[in-house]
Amino acid sequence: MDNEISSETLCPCGSGKTYGRCCKKKNFKFITENNEIKKEIPLHEEIISLLEEQKKKFELYYGREPSDEDYVLSFGPVYGNEILLNAVYFFRREGIPERNIYAYYKSDGLLPCSTNVDLLPEIELQEYNSLCDEFDKAMESTGGQSLNAIKYVLLTNSMIEDVSHHVICAVIDTLNDYIHRHNGSETILGNRKGLLLVFRVKDNKDTAKYHAAD
Ligand SMILES: [Zn+2]
Repeated sequence: MDNEISSETLCPCGSGKTYGRCCKKKNFKFITENNEIKKEIPLHEEIISLLEEQKKKFELYYGREPSDEDYVLSFGPVYGNEILLNAVYFFRREGIPERNIYAYYKSDGLLPCSTNVDLLPEIELQEYNSLCDEFDKAMESTGGQSLNAIKYVLLTNSMIEDVSHHVICAVIDTLNDYIHRHNGSETILGNRKGLLLVFRVKDNKDTAKYHAAD
Protein backbone atom coordinates (compact mmCIF):
# COMPACT_ATOMS: atom_id res chain seq x y z
CA MET A 1 0.00 0.00 0.00
CA ASP A 2 1.40 3.35 -1.02
CA ASN A 3 0.58 5.88 1.66
CA GLU A 4 3.00 8.56 0.50
CA ILE A 5 1.68 12.09 1.04
CA SER A 6 0.45 14.09 -1.96
CA SER A 7 2.96 16.10 -4.01
CA GLU A 8 0.74 19.16 -3.61
CA THR A 9 0.85 19.33 0.19
CA LEU A 10 3.33 21.52 2.04
CA CYS A 11 6.52 19.57 2.66
CA PRO A 12 6.64 18.28 6.27
CA CYS A 13 10.34 19.24 6.46
CA GLY A 14 9.24 22.84 6.99
CA SER A 15 10.85 24.36 3.90
CA GLY A 16 7.61 26.10 2.87
CA LYS A 17 7.71 24.44 -0.57
CA THR A 18 5.33 21.74 -1.78
CA TYR A 19 6.41 18.15 -1.18
CA GLY A 20 6.69 17.57 -4.95
CA ARG A 21 9.17 20.44 -5.30
CA CYS A 22 11.09 19.52 -2.16
CA CYS A 23 11.77 16.22 -0.41
CA LYS A 24 9.97 14.01 -2.94
CA LYS A 25 13.17 14.29 -5.00
CA LYS A 26 15.16 12.69 -2.18
CA ASN A 27 15.69 9.02 -1.44
CA PHE A 28 13.12 8.89 1.38
CA LYS A 29 9.35 9.26 1.60
CA PHE A 30 6.97 11.13 3.83
CA ILE A 31 4.05 8.81 4.51
CA THR A 32 0.89 8.92 6.59
CA GLU A 33 0.32 6.15 9.09
CA ASN A 34 -2.34 6.23 11.82
CA ASN A 35 -3.01 9.89 10.98
CA GLU A 36 0.61 10.77 11.63
CA ILE A 37 3.17 11.91 9.10
CA LYS A 38 6.28 9.76 9.25
CA LYS A 39 9.56 9.74 7.39
CA GLU A 40 10.31 6.40 5.79
CA ILE A 41 13.92 5.75 4.90
CA PRO A 42 15.50 2.69 3.29
CA LEU A 43 17.88 0.99 5.71
CA HIS A 44 21.47 0.54 4.56
CA GLU A 45 22.36 -3.14 4.14
CA GLU A 46 25.16 -2.74 6.68
CA ILE A 47 22.62 -1.54 9.25
CA ILE A 48 20.28 -4.43 8.44
CA SER A 49 23.03 -6.98 9.06
CA LEU A 50 24.02 -5.22 12.32
CA LEU A 51 20.40 -5.35 13.48
CA GLU A 52 20.25 -9.05 12.59
CA GLU A 53 23.36 -9.62 14.69
CA GLN A 54 21.81 -7.68 17.54
CA LYS A 55 18.67 -9.80 17.29
CA LYS A 56 20.80 -12.94 17.70
CA LYS A 57 22.44 -11.44 20.78
CA PHE A 58 19.02 -10.70 22.20
CA GLU A 59 17.96 -14.32 21.71
CA LEU A 60 21.16 -15.55 23.32
CA TYR A 61 20.67 -13.23 26.26
CA TYR A 62 16.97 -13.67 26.95
CA GLY A 63 16.43 -17.14 25.55
CA ARG A 64 13.60 -16.06 23.26
CA GLU A 65 12.95 -14.08 20.13
CA PRO A 66 12.36 -10.35 20.56
CA SER A 67 8.67 -9.47 20.45
CA ASP A 68 7.07 -6.24 19.26
CA GLU A 69 7.46 -4.88 22.77
CA ASP A 70 11.19 -5.52 23.13
CA TYR A 71 14.15 -3.30 22.51
CA VAL A 72 17.04 -5.00 20.78
CA LEU A 73 19.48 -2.22 19.94
CA SER A 74 20.51 -1.66 23.53
CA PHE A 75 19.27 -3.89 26.34
CA GLY A 76 19.21 -1.07 28.84
CA PRO A 77 16.90 1.91 29.20
CA VAL A 78 17.72 5.12 27.37
CA TYR A 79 17.59 8.22 29.49
CA GLY A 80 17.58 11.76 28.11
CA ASN A 81 20.01 12.24 25.27
CA GLU A 82 22.07 9.15 25.99
CA ILE A 83 22.04 8.00 22.35
CA LEU A 84 23.39 11.36 21.25
CA LEU A 85 26.12 11.33 23.88
CA ASN A 86 27.07 7.76 23.03
CA ALA A 87 27.40 8.71 19.38
CA VAL A 88 29.58 11.70 20.27
CA TYR A 89 31.84 9.40 22.29
CA PHE A 90 32.40 7.15 19.28
CA PHE A 91 32.75 10.05 16.82
CA ARG A 92 35.60 11.46 18.93
CA ARG A 93 37.21 8.06 19.15
CA GLU A 94 37.07 7.74 15.35
CA GLY A 95 38.53 11.20 14.83
CA ILE A 96 35.51 12.99 13.37
CA PRO A 97 36.32 16.74 13.40
CA GLU A 98 35.04 18.70 16.38
CA ARG A 99 33.07 21.13 14.15
CA ASN A 100 31.00 18.21 12.82
CA ILE A 101 30.44 16.81 16.30
CA TYR A 102 29.31 20.24 17.47
CA ALA A 103 26.81 20.49 14.61
CA TYR A 104 25.66 16.91 15.23
CA TYR A 105 24.95 17.64 18.88
CA LYS A 106 23.28 21.01 18.34
CA SER A 107 21.12 19.75 15.48
CA ASP A 108 19.95 16.86 17.64
CA GLY A 109 21.50 14.09 15.60
CA LEU A 110 22.34 15.24 12.08
CA LEU A 111 25.57 13.96 10.57
CA PRO A 112 25.45 14.18 6.78
CA CYS A 113 27.94 11.99 4.91
CA SER A 114 28.20 10.43 1.46
CA THR A 115 25.90 7.51 2.35
CA ASN A 116 23.04 9.49 3.89
CA VAL A 117 23.06 12.91 2.22
CA ASP A 118 20.15 11.87 0.02
CA LEU A 119 18.15 10.81 3.08
CA LEU A 120 18.08 14.29 4.62
CA PRO A 121 15.85 17.22 3.65
CA GLU A 122 17.74 20.21 2.18
CA ILE A 123 16.57 22.35 5.08
CA GLU A 124 18.31 20.03 7.55
CA LEU A 125 21.52 20.08 5.50
CA GLN A 126 21.43 23.88 5.58
CA GLU A 127 20.89 23.85 9.34
CA TYR A 128 23.82 21.48 9.76
CA ASN A 129 26.13 23.59 7.59
CA SER A 130 25.25 26.79 9.41
CA LEU A 131 26.05 25.09 12.73
CA CYS A 132 29.46 24.07 11.35
CA ASP A 133 30.02 27.71 10.36
CA GLU A 134 28.92 28.83 13.83
CA PHE A 135 31.58 26.58 15.31
CA ASP A 136 34.31 27.84 12.94
CA LYS A 137 33.45 31.46 13.75
CA ALA A 138 33.59 30.80 17.47
CA MET A 139 36.99 29.17 17.09
CA GLU A 140 38.36 32.12 15.08
CA SER A 141 37.27 34.78 17.55
CA THR A 142 39.78 35.67 20.19
CA GLY A 143 37.08 36.76 22.62
CA GLY A 144 39.23 39.44 24.28
CA GLN A 145 38.70 39.55 28.01
CA SER A 146 35.48 37.57 27.91
CA LEU A 147 35.42 33.80 27.89
CA ASN A 148 34.67 32.05 24.61
CA ALA A 149 31.84 29.77 25.71
CA ILE A 150 32.15 27.28 22.87
CA LYS A 151 35.89 26.88 23.36
CA TYR A 152 35.40 26.42 27.08
CA VAL A 153 32.58 23.91 26.72
CA LEU A 154 34.67 21.98 24.22
CA LEU A 155 37.44 21.53 26.76
CA THR A 156 35.16 20.12 29.43
CA ASN A 157 32.83 18.22 27.14
CA SER A 158 34.95 15.25 26.24
CA MET A 159 36.01 14.70 29.83
CA ILE A 160 32.44 14.77 31.16
CA GLU A 161 31.16 12.57 28.35
CA ASP A 162 33.89 9.99 28.89
CA VAL A 163 33.02 9.76 32.57
CA SER A 164 29.27 9.57 31.98
CA HIS A 165 29.74 6.98 29.25
CA HIS A 166 31.56 4.65 31.62
CA VAL A 167 29.01 5.17 34.38
CA ILE A 168 26.10 4.49 32.01
CA CYS A 169 27.79 1.34 30.66
CA ALA A 170 28.36 0.06 34.17
CA VAL A 171 24.73 0.66 35.16
CA ILE A 172 23.41 -1.01 32.00
CA ASP A 173 25.69 -4.02 32.46
CA THR A 174 24.55 -4.38 36.06
CA LEU A 175 20.89 -4.19 35.10
CA ASN A 176 21.36 -6.67 32.27
CA ASP A 177 23.11 -9.07 34.56
CA TYR A 178 20.26 -8.70 37.00
CA ILE A 179 17.60 -9.33 34.33
CA HIS A 180 19.53 -12.25 32.94
CA ARG A 181 19.86 -14.02 36.23
CA HIS A 182 16.25 -13.36 37.17
CA ASN A 183 14.79 -14.15 33.78
CA GLY A 184 11.41 -15.82 34.17
CA SER A 185 10.84 -14.73 37.74
CA GLU A 186 9.40 -11.60 39.28
CA THR A 187 12.06 -9.00 39.94
CA ILE A 188 11.98 -6.41 42.67
CA LEU A 189 11.02 -3.91 40.00
CA GLY A 190 7.90 -5.94 39.37
CA ASN A 191 8.10 -5.68 35.62
CA ARG A 192 11.07 -6.90 33.62
CA LYS A 193 9.96 -4.85 30.63
CA GLY A 194 10.83 -1.75 32.60
CA LEU A 195 14.47 -2.42 31.93
CA LEU A 196 14.39 -3.18 28.25
CA LEU A 197 15.12 -0.80 25.49
CA VAL A 198 13.26 -2.04 22.45
CA PHE A 199 14.42 -1.25 18.98
CA ARG A 200 11.77 -2.18 16.49
CA VAL A 201 12.58 -3.16 12.97
CA LYS A 202 9.36 -3.41 11.08
CA ASP A 203 8.53 -2.58 7.49
CA ASN A 204 11.94 -0.96 7.06
CA LYS A 205 11.18 1.63 9.72
CA ASP A 206 12.71 1.80 13.12
CA THR A 207 11.44 3.33 16.29
CA ALA A 208 12.85 3.16 19.77
CA LYS A 209 10.63 3.00 22.77
CA TYR A 210 11.22 2.75 26.48
CA HIS A 211 8.75 0.87 28.62
CA ALA A 212 8.53 2.30 32.08
CA ALA A 213 7.93 -0.21 34.84
CA ASP A 214 4.50 0.35 36.33
ZN1 LIG B 1 11.08 19.06 2.17
